[in-house]
Amino acid sequence: MKILVINAGSSSLKYQLIDMENESLLAKGLCERIGIDGRLTHKPQNGKPTYEADVPFPTHKEAIEAVLEKLTSKEYGVVDSMSEIGAVGHRVLHGGSEFTESCLVDEKCEEAIRRCFPLGPLHNPANLMGIKACQAVMPGTPQVAVFDTSFGMSMEPKAYMYAIPYEFYEKDSIRRYGFHGTSHRFVSARACEISGKPNTKVINCHLGNGSSVSASIDGKCVDTSMGLTPLAGLPMGTRSGDVDAAILQFLMNKYNYSVDQMLNILNKKSGVLGVSGVSSDFRDLESAAAEGNKHAQLALEKFCYETAKYVGAYAAAMNGVDMITFTAGVGENGIDTRARICAYLGFLGVTLDPEKNNSRGKEVEISTPDSKVRVFVIPTNEELMIARDTLALVTK
Ligand code: AMP
Repeated sequence: MKILVINAGSSSLKYQLIDMENESLLAKGLCERIGIDGRLTHKPQNGKPTYEADVPFPTHKEAIEAVLEKLTSKEYGVVDSMSEIGAVGHRVLHGGSEFTESCLVDEKCEEAIRRCFPLGPLHNPANLMGIKACQAVMPGTPQVAVFDTSFGMSMEPKAYMYAIPYEFYEKDSIRRYGFHGTSHRFVSARACEISGKPNTKVINCHLGNGSSVSASIDGKCVDTSMGLTPLAGLPMGTRSGDVDAAILQFLMNKYNYSVDQMLNILNKKSGVLGVSGVSSDFRDLESAAAEGNKHAQLALEKFCYETAKYVGAYAAAMNGVDMITFTAGVGENGIDTRARICAYLGFLGVTLDPEKNNSRGKEVEISTPDSKVRVFVIPTNEELMIARDTLALVTK
């Protein structure tokens, strides 16, 4: 079966068409500036040329229509007709506590996505727009919603509860949900497959522009660093990660910031960008640090230190760890970052092989054969995970 995977944002829509016979990518692309003017980039993977042009996208519906037109066209297409697309899998940010796994889209599911709007105000409405657009353009094709939060639903209350009055959990659903769940699920499942042992304890470091760490046993989440929102946990490209909440009061009083201004600082102007004053991009930071920029050096050091602290904490939470995995842009490519994080982990018996670690973007074991904990780079593939869930649900 061929499955279309959609990740709809408020003004953009990413897609991949995947052939599940052999899990191969047939085409991928991006619709941008939806509701503004519109631009489509379509990349067939069968040797046909890339299509890139301005295309009017008043709404997500026109964007999906244009994607389907390209997927089936003579010049840029990869399938003969739309009927070859057996199902559509949608990335949905927030499923609240209602979804412990992916689900076929029906009225109940749509209603639940709507109920989670307050928890994912930027993403959930856009994700639903993507679903509605596909329903309009591909009636009869099953749609599946895959939630970024469902991985975190196996956490125990001691991991997901905040130590604030219980009524806020009961009345307002305030708890740790965790994000990057589809990526953590993909990588931890692959780690378990490699290990081949039951109850493999995995700590996965998803390090990219957004970063999070998860602890899982046998692929089931025990704990994860993001919280009610993706602002929590590690310092990231522009997000602060964990801060003392009283800092907010202090700065808001002193500088007369509104809540929105304060959160804008924490979400957009903090993290490694805030500390370095240079960039949110790790390649820029590494260049600046190599040229002697002290703030860039500190930002990188802080990032590695905080990541290592989470790994240590999660080893304690699981009473041990069998595998540590690195994934996403920095995790897959940041040779120096991986080495610096692992340098803190000698107490766990982690020994890195510098030669094996000298690798980018591919699956590789980077620890020595005698390392007590096996360390791997495992490239993430959220789209494939979404397609696998979709296939499983529509062929059930
Ligand atoms: P992501 O959000 O997963 O796309 O990751 C983006 C981050 O990965 C950016 O900070 C990039 O600088 C970083 N990245 C990509 N390639 C490299 C590389 N070769 N070395 C270090 N960082 C990289």
